[in-house]
Amino acid sequence: MKTKAAVIYEPKSKFIIEELDLAEPSNGEILVEVKATGVCRTDEHVITGDEEHPFPCVLGHESAGIVKQVGPGVEAIKEGDHVITVWMPSCGKCEPCRKGQGNLCVRGAGLFSGVLFDGKTKFKKNGEDIYHFLNVSGFSEYIIIPEDSAIVVDKQAPLDKICLLGCASTSGFGAATRTAKVEAASTASIYGFGGIGSGVLIGLVSSGADMIIVVDPNDWKEEVAIKMGATHFINPKKVDPVELTLELTNGVGVDYSFECWGSPETQAQVYNSLKNRGKGILLGGCDERINQIPIQPVSFPLTERQLMGSLYGSCTPAVEIPKFVSLFMHNKFDLDSVITKTFKLEEINDAFDAMRNGEVIRGIIKFD
Ligand SMILES: [Zn+2]
Ligand SMILES: [Zn+2]
Repeated sequence: MKTKAAVIYEPKSKFIIEELDLAEPSNGEILVEVKATGVCRTDEHVITGDEEHPFPCVLGHESAGIVKQVGPGVEAIKEGDHVITVWMPSCGKCEPCRKGQGNLCVRGAGLFSGVLFDGKTKFKKNGEDIYHFLNVSGFSEYIIIPEDSAIVVDKQAPLDKICLLGCASTSGFGAATRTAKVEAASTASIYGFGGIGSGVLIGLVSSGADMIIVVDPNDWKEEVAIKMGATHFINPKKVDPVELTLELTNGVGVDYSFECWGSPETQAQVYNSLKNRGKGILLGGCDERINQIPIQPVSFPLTERQLMGSLYGSCTPAVEIPKFVSLFMHNKFDLDSVITKTFKLEEINDAFDAMRNGEVIRGIIKFD
């Protein structure tokens, strides 16, 4: 069959809308009609070359859609099911999966290979391979994905909202509630208020944090952050966020700080704004060539502060995402405030520019 997709032919180039050939689903694969896909910085890291990946490729990994066909051997998913895609297709059998750490499944090792588990691409243009991205490639009308990359969800849930649970909102919410296990009456800060940072905020509010400081260089986001439950907003271009955080906390710092920006400078700010025994959680994607964070090693024993990573919010996607959909359906997971703007697939270059320029908290590509 044919599918309309946004293709990136080389690093640092623009998307080109193309009609591609799409193969039939093979063993263990499904065909999904994509309804919406969020625009994420992880896609951007491939475009900039910060993350190595084969080209040409169809990016997009935060999608929701409707199953149109299932391949041989697929039992748990059927035609007509509504699904959220996940970029970590937990196998359920490896050691991390058996320990309930599906976000660290061994399958993660091949995520940036550009091919599905059978080693092939399902997209072709004039007989040439077009590579997949994270087994999803959500910037295409139709996609072939492994069945483990899809989570069946409530058919009542709006696909153009819950697609965010495929990546950013789950990663952020989980970082606060699963990785850090934030306690009520805590103090916290969030560096970077985009898709992931807003997910952290939702998680902090639901955990009963008392003070939530959002740090972001775009002043217009203050109104949204406060509406969603933040207590303070700092523009780091105007004031030193570490100094102001210390001032706001009587000189002791915050219990938790979340780095959603992806730079060594903000990672150091996260660490330096923690109180003794405070926890800094790093979840922003960074240029993979960077190998240093400018912090003072001696401060680790002196303050017992901790820095920890968080991948997919420490969530096993198949277990946690249906719960988050349910929270959303009960008005306890505010995705509506996160979505600033929706774009057509043809407007995808504008959607990425809007993210680069800090004009959106989250932008979404919506298919008709
Ligand atoms: Zn993402
Ligand atoms: Zn596994």
